[in-house]
Amino acid sequence: MAVRLSNRVSGINASASIAARKRVAELQAAGRDIIDFTIGEPDLDTPAHVVDAAVAALRRGETHYTPTAGIEPLRELIAEKLGRDSGLSLSPESVIVGSGAKQLIHDALMASVDPGDEVILPAPYWVSYPDMVKLAGGVPVVVPCAESDAFKLAPAALEAAITPRTRWLILNSPNNPSGAVYGRSELQALAAILERHPQVMLMTDDIYEHLTYDGIRHVNMASVAPGLADRTLFVGGFSKSYAMTGWRVGYACGPLELVRAIGKLIGQSTTCASSVSQAAAVAALQGSQDFIEETRAIYQARRDLMHGIVSSIDGVRVARPEGAFYLFPDVSGLVGRRAPSGEVIGSDADLVMYLLDHANVAVIDGGPYGMSPYLRLSYATSMDAIERGCLRMKAACDRLLP
Ligand code: PLP
Repeated sequence: MAVRLSNRVSGINASASIAARKRVAELQAAGRDIIDFTIGEPDLDTPAHVVDAAVAALRRGETHYTPTAGIEPLRELIAEKLGRDSGLSLSPESVIVGSGAKQLIHDALMASVDPGDEVILPAPYWVSYPDMVKLAGGVPVVVPCAESDAFKLAPAALEAAITPRTRWLILNSPNNPSGAVYGRSELQALAAILERHPQVMLMTDDIYEHLTYDGIRHVNMASVAPGLADRTLFVGGFSKSYAMTGWRVGYACGPLELVRAIGKLIGQSTTCASSVSQAAAVAALQGSQDFIEETRAIYQARRDLMHGIVSSIDGVRVARPEGAFYLFPDVSGLVGRRAPSGEVIGSDADLVMYLLDHANVAVIDGGPYGMSPYLRLSYATSMDAIERGCLRMKAACDRLLP
């Protein structure tokens, strides 16, 4: 009997970054020496005290289901942390823990979007948002953010995109893939517009909040716009800040009705986040935060190295990103050039294949992030890999003929 898939799932794409990682793994397994810049996760190990706390929890027998919204100590710590960042007084009841920020974004949309409802996505955007919106029956409304605006949403563009059907604006700072970090005045300008449109909720995806460079710091939206707090969902997690991607633990904090609705979905799908991972997350928030400063310095050096080489490639333009761990170069200067074999590089996707075949370097094209012709390169890898991979890229690009 043929398998019949739902329209819901047939209408969405597989994650481009997960697909790229799989392709790299296959090529490496086949013996190809690929340098991988597709990685969307820290290459560093989870801090030892966090691992130790998880092991201790296991030994104590914390191997059972937890409450759907998460264990109390963790919800309290998250409420305290977000309270410090936002200046709001937040109760643990307004916090829900899930199996990664990804689950919480997905469930928040599922809990609040009806067919035809619109969700504003500033582009470039994280690859998963449009498909999550579609899964919920909603309509992604993509608003391009020009490189000349540092890839940030312009207030006038936000205003123009809002309709009576708009349910959400999803704001991601620091941004994957552009690395853009919104400052106070930029957030204030966007908040002033949202204040005039009470039907629009705001989701702030702050998963990269600690990964900011050059002394720039992430600003919590509620600290500049407390008036929006009753319709803001803060999303964050442990994956990027504490190198805990595999633990699958993240959180959301917002209006009680919405948080309880997300809880219903978790209760009917995954029950709760892993008990062991929650114990680890408690240790991450309670213990020394030195890891964050150490990793910030490591990533900043990697960013500088990668930016230095990539920006020197003829035909490539790239600003130095302020946060996250990606470079998002404009490669329009390479589109239209010819490979030595005669094939024309017709798009950023063609360039990705050319670099894979002729430089043994894996990157992702801008298409899945809503902006072409660009490439996304992750610098969450060693200095040695960055240097070798970028020099290989430069040599391969220099071989392209006008
Ligand atoms: N949001 C953004 C912008 C991301 O880049 C990612 C992971 O790549 C996530 C959310 C998901 O994070 P988590 O591992 O907590 O599910």
